Amino acid sequence: MKLLFMGPPGAGKGTQARRIAEKYGIPQLSTGDMLRAAVKEGSDIGLKAKAVMESGGLVSDEIVIGIIADRTLAADCAGGFLLDGFPRTVAQAEALDRMLAERRHAIDHVIDLAADSEALVRRITGRSSCAGCGEGYHNEFKKPTHVGVCDKCGGQLTQRADDNEETVRNRLDAYQRQTAPLIDYYRRQGNLKDVDGMLPMDEVFDAICAILD
Ligand code: ADP
Ligand code: ADP
Ligand code: ZN
Repeated sequence: MKLLFMGPPGAGKGTQARRIAEKYGIPQLSTGDMLRAAVKEGSDIGLKAKAVMESGGLVSDEIVIGIIADRTLAADCAGGFLLDGFPRTVAQAEALDRMLAERRHAIDHVIDLAADSEALVRRITGRSSCAGCGEGYHNEFKKPTHVGVCDKCGGQLTQRADDNEETVRNRLDAYQRQTAPLIDYYRRQGNLKDVDGMLPMDEVFDAICAILD
């Protein structure tokens, strides 16, 4: 099963991708997570991506296409994968189509999560995640039992450097200009599934499962 999750920043892609990947036993490939790991490591890619990510812009197509081309060749992707946050431009989508065609593969479902911009800003500015296991939290919508501590593993909760109000505007802007055109791109291909990301998390999850099952 090959899945693609689309949607503006804060729509719930990561939250749902994590649960769906676990349920269906496929790896979750988040370009955002991979880029943050590269920045932390201080690798070549990380050095190139850092400033762009901090400003809320998009990292170059060349870099993210290279990351996904390599990552999808790994053994754990043989049974499928879930792309979370890639593609984000038409050029990335076209590169992905070419890559999959060369490998005689195809995306089964494109899930498009929609939410209004006021909700997105609130979700992003209240977001945190566990430094240990990656579990996501929110200071209103998914509170940990103890402030700053992960319910699952006891790890410390951290906020992303780019999850602040100024950067959020730039990210929403980048989404509108560069990523939203992909909705039509995939609708024309016939495999786009619209999911209401404004529903509570469990209901969004059920809606996605109903599409996949
Ligand atoms: P994305 O990966 O699309 O940027 P996330 O999955 O990280 O978004 O979600 C952003 C924030 O909003 C997180 O703190 C998450 O806990 C919260 N969140 C996700 N889905 C919902 C929802 N359906 N309702 C309320 N809050 C949500
Ligand atoms: P969000 O929660 O806003 O959807 P992500 O974790 O997916 O954020 O991405 C964080 C940042 O990483 C983006 O703002 C962008 O700078 C960069 N990034 C992630 N995926 C891509 C991509 N496919 N193309 C270009 N830049 C990307
Ligand atoms: Zn944890």
